[in-house]
Amino acid sequence: MIDWIADYLATVEQYPVGSQVQPGDIRAMLPEHPPTEAEPFEAVLADMDRVVIPGLTHWQHPNFFAFFPANVSYASILGDLAASGLGVQGMSWMTSPACTEVETLMMDWMQELLGLPEKFRSTSERGGGVIQGSASEATLTSILAARWRATGGQVNTNGDTTRLVAYATSQAHSSIEKGLRIAGIGTGQIRAVPHDEHFAMRPDELARMIEADIAAGLIPFWVCVSRGTTSSMAFDPTAEIAAVAQPANVWVHVDAAMSGIAALAPEHRWVNEGMEHADSYCTNPHKWMGVNFDCDLFWTADRAALLGALSILPEYLRSKAAESGAAIDYRDWQVPLGRRFRALKVWFNIRTGGVADAVAMIRRHVALTQEFAEWADADPRFEVVAPHPLNLVVVRLVEGDAATDSLIERANASGRALFTRTVLDGKVACRVSIGASGTERRHVEDGWALLRELA
Ligand code: PLP
Repeated sequence: MIDWIADYLATVEQYPVGSQVQPGDIRAMLPEHPPTEAEPFEAVLADMDRVVIPGLTHWQHPNFFAFFPANVSYASILGDLAASGLGVQGMSWMTSPACTEVETLMMDWMQELLGLPEKFRSTSERGGGVIQGSASEATLTSILAARWRATGGQVNTNGDTTRLVAYATSQAHSSIEKGLRIAGIGTGQIRAVPHDEHFAMRPDELARMIEADIAAGLIPFWVCVSRGTTSSMAFDPTAEIAAVAQPANVWVHVDAAMSGIAALAPEHRWVNEGMEHADSYCTNPHKWMGVNFDCDLFWTADRAALLGALSILPEYLRSKAAESGAAIDYRDWQVPLGRRFRALKVWFNIRTGGVADAVAMIRRHVALTQEFAEWADADPRFEVVAPHPLNLVVVRLVEGDAATDSLIERANASGRALFTRTVLDGKVACRVSIGASGTERRHVEDGWALLRELA
């Protein structure tokens, strides 16, 4: 299986980037009923080639320019395999002390590597970090902590969220609204704060909305600062937003799912500027650091609020270690009870040179993105529609929406590359996200040639 994975990654370029199958095709290649006799593993492996490969969209393909990346490294694959093989559940310190303590250390290492404030360290007075499965879970956790704090803990007893109000721009990721809905904050309690011409939140508009909500007897409680939005990689101004939000006791959560990892490179540390004002922060090594999915890093400066919102202590989970205060029980820092030993893949990755590799990759991707933007700028048929400080450039055809839509559709159907459609300022646009581990200049040239040929 390991050889098969290595061969796959070495030869992924031969496949069409987007899967060419139709709905139902994959299931139709498999027996309708489960086998009654055990099959040899070779038969299972053969079906990986016959059935699974044709049904894949190849995220590790160097011409994958869609969504945001989800790159992998060999070290992290082995770390994940080790976690599967050990099969431990790290819900409490005592259920597997190494699972908790390696994770806490990895969060502290990453705080250092990303230049994040000391207040997020496990050794700080009030903060700490945890590995979550996804940015969506981190966001939800942050909302639950903020909800607890804003209601003085009352929400745990009466479940009343009716007066709480949250803020984000229309550019914030869909996981923000999803998390709020799960937490009992309906769309009528979510304010879309206007953004500027670069799609970044306007703090003056936020101030106006918070003031109006307070005047109406509501409780502003949570704001999402997006550092690298999904549609266009816009950066909301953290310090200015915090200056408005925190005097009103509004929890400031920073969603840097994609872009925060860029801070591994000192010249991109600006992505995390203003973080000393954040109540919580998340970023995804599973997007751009070669740590395979799933791995989101979530820090808070107020772990008491998190524990207030999420700790429940049934008799069967009591332990002397936790009661002494000397140990962390990460089950109280997340939604599920059980948890995998995800820290191993971060640890393996960092110890085998993963940071230097990620920095080199990030620099390459950023440089290639700037080149792509220059090519698009120089072609009168295209326009670049948003700033592109990192590894996402968004373009459209001057001809208009129908032409841009048709271009994206035909480019994706070709199998030569994969792009994602978005709408910015009411106009259809094509996101070109450069982030696969194997992407080099020739792949980006090829993607640009494809768009030009079909335009
Ligand atoms: N936030 C932003 C800005 C994103 O771009 C994404 C995904 O691309 C998410 C959140 C959600 O990430 P996850 O899949 O880890 O929940």
